[in-house]
Amino acid sequence: MHQIKNFINNEFIEPASRDYLDVTEPATGQVYAKVPLSDAADVDRAAVAAKAAFPAWAALPAAERSRLLLRLADLIDANLDRLAQAESLDCGKPIALARAIDIPRSAANFRYFATAILHTPGEMYETDQPAVGGPLHAINYTLRRPRSVAGLISPWNLPLYLLSWKIAPAIATGNTCIAKPSEVTPMTGAILGELVREAGIPPGVVNIVHGDGRTCGSAIVSHPDVPAISFTGSTGVGRWIGETCGRMLKRVSLELGGKNPFIIFDDADLAQAIPTAVRGAFTNQGQICLCGSRLLVHQRVFERVLDGVVAGAKALKIGDPSDAATQFGALVSRQHLDKVAGMVDEARQLRGVIHCGGASVPTASLSERCRNGYFYQPTVISGLDPACRVEREEIFGPVVTLQPFDDDEHAISLANATDYGLAATIFTNDLSRAHRTADRLHSGIVWINSWLVRDLRTPFGGTKASGVGREGGLEAIRFFTEPKNVCVRI
Ligand code: NAD
Repeated sequence: MHQIKNFINNEFIEPASRDYLDVTEPATGQVYAKVPLSDAADVDRAAVAAKAAFPAWAALPAAERSRLLLRLADLIDANLDRLAQAESLDCGKPIALARAIDIPRSAANFRYFATAILHTPGEMYETDQPAVGGPLHAINYTLRRPRSVAGLISPWNLPLYLLSWKIAPAIATGNTCIAKPSEVTPMTGAILGELVREAGIPPGVVNIVHGDGRTCGSAIVSHPDVPAISFTGSTGVGRWIGETCGRMLKRVSLELGGKNPFIIFDDADLAQAIPTAVRGAFTNQGQICLCGSRLLVHQRVFERVLDGVVAGAKALKIGDPSDAATQFGALVSRQHLDKVAGMVDEARQLRGVIHCGGASVPTASLSERCRNGYFYQPTVISGLDPACRVEREEIFGPVVTLQPFDDDEHAISLANATDYGLAATIFTNDLSRAHRTADRLHSGIVWINSWLVRDLRTPFGGTKASGVGREGGLEAIRFFTEPKNVCVRI
């Protein structure tokens, strides 16, 4: 059985405790690997390595760091098949999705920040003030320096993609890091260690420590030599990390959950809106923080949208994630499947109408290999009270609800009626309505007549319970650097 190791100082080493956790393949329910259950001793070892590597890495010219990150991006591309297979096996996600999105976007993250640091503008202000004895002239300029060691913690739904989204800006700007992939899906993070070494990135710059949240993740968050924490995961864990970082006065970025509205107005192009809504609800089995899990539909087109979404959900090809034709794979774990099923049962008790799905995939329809896997059917529900838990809390699975609305005001109030504020989608052909609505939604990201279009230069993140701070582009470069203003009197 494959035994993953920690990657510290460019070496693969066992955890100090020699304790390991099982890693399960979601499509089969079989344990296929072991991941270190690292503790504070391992995190401390990584922190020592990262701290020692920091001065030389930070002093390297940006062009040199850029060259090494570009080499790493090329190696990710060269290992596309291996990484996509590992991601699909580990998460239960269709191999076609891992090949098209997860792995290419991971390479793109390194490539983007490798080049962004060569073109980042600086800040300079000329000061001209009245003063005793004549006007005072000065120049202010702002230096931005890396913070030192960054702690980077990511979830299981897009493992390599979200980890690279943090490692790339952290090290491009001259920090060293301790990264922790989710213990549920550690495989591509482990392979990344190999590629970091092959790219020639010096020892101690990227350290990958595996383990659970309670022991290993919390040791990273509370380590005194890790002054910046970037976290993507659930809102509950994010709150604890925010509190801890607040007490220790650390810089913290929190990318948390979502319950995203997907609004379809009656003037929308339904031929575009319906297939996008199906993709938005069920891509990666609904396990993307940006999924449009609440469809808000104008009452005039409600029945047509409902019929189209149900037909789209039923048409998805469910099956073995390793099959190139599969569009819909397994949920990540038994525990997660039980949570999703529990929310659907609650919807049923609340007299919600289950139009399709609402149960595990019948084993007879799965291949022999997948009969013990965690497959749950794409599920479409309507008729729930907007105030109920199913409509307000994140399910993070293949479940979409539909709610009708009467007019623009009603749509906006339904959209904003959750604690979350991550991503919203609007389908309309009325330009003014699109801009007006976008402006009034409580949301860090708004897509108009599209979904999941990403430009790495744009700010990424949410408001309210969806997080604090933004990733992407200049926002990430600012987060991982400390500004210092220098004022020179002339
Ligand atoms: P999770 O919060 O359980 O775990 C995320 C990571 O944090 C894992 O690596 C875990 O080991 C670690 N962790 C857990 N407890 C910790 C602690 N006390 N201290 C430090 N680290 C700890 O989340 P998950 O179940 O892995 O992921 C699903 C969640 O992630 C969903 O809520 C989803 O919306 C969210 N998510 C958000 C975004 C975004 O960009 N906003 C992207 C993807 C996923």
